[in-house]
Amino acid sequence: MALGKDYATQQCSIARALEIVGERWTLLVVRDALYGVRRYNDFLVHLGIPRAVLAARLQTLTAEGILEKRRYQQSPPRDEYVLTDRGIALWPTLRALGLWGREHYTDARLRSFRHADCGTELGAYGECPACGGVVPVGDVVMWPGPGLDRDPADPVSRVLLKPKRLLEPLETESV
Ligand SMILES: [Zn+2]
Repeated sequence: MALGKDYATQQCSIARALEIVGERWTLLVVRDALYGVRRYNDFLVHLGIPRAVLAARLQTLTAEGILEKRRYQQSPPRDEYVLTDRGIALWPTLRALGLWGREHYTDARLRSFRHADCGTELGAYGECPACGGVVPVGDVVMWPGPGLDRDPADPVSRVLLKPKRLLEPLETESV
């Protein structure tokens, strides 16, 4: 029997969510969007993803209301992809996956996430141990860790060598 595209026998909200974000690359596109990547070329060079796959993932994420397509230039026409509230709501999922990956599969400290107001590293549930309460995504600053390649080839990775607030549009020179 061929492997189905959905989990028709599963009455489960995890299965329902995985029908949307469980395809290869999809959550990494959302991760990059949280980092502030908005432009097709920036996704392309940072992810090292085949063009057709990126186009398909962006189309699915837009159709599902996770990304919103916005025109930022008329001639030639150019669109950027911005996370909606539905997309931003995936932050705790990605954060938890990152912590799980670090604990079980890699020791490298690649990035850390801190509360912009006080500089304290977030707790496991996205809370600020100093201020209390969960920190909104837009108040999280991502810091490069010691395990990160200091001389990356692509312009997005180079921008991310400096501390960067999540969601703030990422500016590269490769426009
Ligand atoms: Zn704080």
